[in-house]
Amino acid sequence: MFDNEIHLSFMSKSQNEGFARMVASSFVSQLDPTIEELSDIRTAVSEAVTNAVIHGYDNKNGTIYMDCYCEGKTVTITIRDDGNGIDDVELAMQPFYTSKPNLDRSGMGFSVMEAFMDKISVESEPNVGTTVTMVKTIDSSGAYVKEKQDE
Ligand code: ATP
Ligand code: MG
Repeated sequence: MFDNEIHLSFMSKSQNEGFARMVASSFVSQLDPTIEELSDIRTAVSEAVTNAVIHGYDNKNGTIYMDCYCEGKTVTITIRDDGNGIDDVELAMQPFYTSKPNLDRSGMGFSVMEAFMDKISVESEPNVGTTVTMVKTIDSSGAYVKEKQDE
C-alpha cells in the first residue's frame, strides 16, 4: 500500500505534455521538494511523455497513462504507452542513440531521465508498448519552496 497514488490517462498530443508535467509536480509537492527537485521531476516526465508521443505513437492518436505513487519521501512515476515498443532497450537507453536522427532528436532523453531521477527502468515489447518507471526520493526539507511561498 502506498501513502498516496494518482492515475491519469490522456491523448498522445504534445499539448498534453505540460498537463502531465503539472499534475506530476503538483502530486510531488506534498513531499515538500526543493524547486530543483521539482524541476528535475518535471523534466524527466516531459522526456518520457515526449517519447511516448513521438516514438510510441509516431505522433498519431493513442493513450498515454501516467501513474504517480508516493511512500514516505519516495515518489514513483510510471509513463506507459500501448504503442510501437522498443526492439533493443539497452541500445535505446545509450546516450546519443536515437532512431530518429532526421527529426533533430539528440538521443539524450533517457540519459536526462537517468540524471534527474534516482532510478529509471524501461520495460518494452515491440508492437505492445513501453513502460518507463522513474523513482526519486525527496531528501530535503523543502525549506526553500516554503520560503518562496511565504514571500
Ligand atoms: P531526444 O529525447 O534527445 O529528443 P530521442 O527521443 O531519440 O531524442 P531518447 O529519449 O533517449 O532519445 O530515446 C532513445 C530511443 O528510444 C528513441 O530514439 C526511440 O527509438 C526509443 N524510444 C524511447 N521511448 C520510446 C517509446 N515510448 N516507444 C518507442 N520507442 C521509444
Ligand atoms: Mg526522447
